[in-house]
Amino acid sequence: MINIIKSKCTGCGVCKKVCPQGVIEIRDKKAELTDYKSCMECGACSLNCEFDAIEVTKGTGCLIAIIKEDILKIASKGTGCECNEGCC
Ligand code: SF4
Ligand code: SF4
Repeated sequence: MINIIKSKCTGCGVCKKVCPQGVIEIRDKKAELTDYKSCMECGACSLNCEFDAIEVTKGTGCLIAIIKEDILKIASKGTGCECNEGCC
């Protein structure tokens, strides 16, 4: 779970730079999470925000992101399935 405290955010952009998933944008001089599902809840944004404007509670996000990446890697290599249903 990630919580951006807009009243503390200065829009410096550090969180955007350090986010390994690229899911933070600066809009109207405030940080915004653009894709909640892709957030790994790694905490890098929170650790690097010198204004304490981001709180990250580690949850299942990291696990979900890792599983999703693994599935994409497997899919890009091909699964061997020939059903043509577009499911894999
Ligand atoms: S690092 Fe902190 S202050 Fe800077 S944009 Fe991100 S949330 Fe805002
Ligand atoms: S917790 Fe990690 S993945 Fe999520 S927004 Fe922050 S830096 Fe990006």
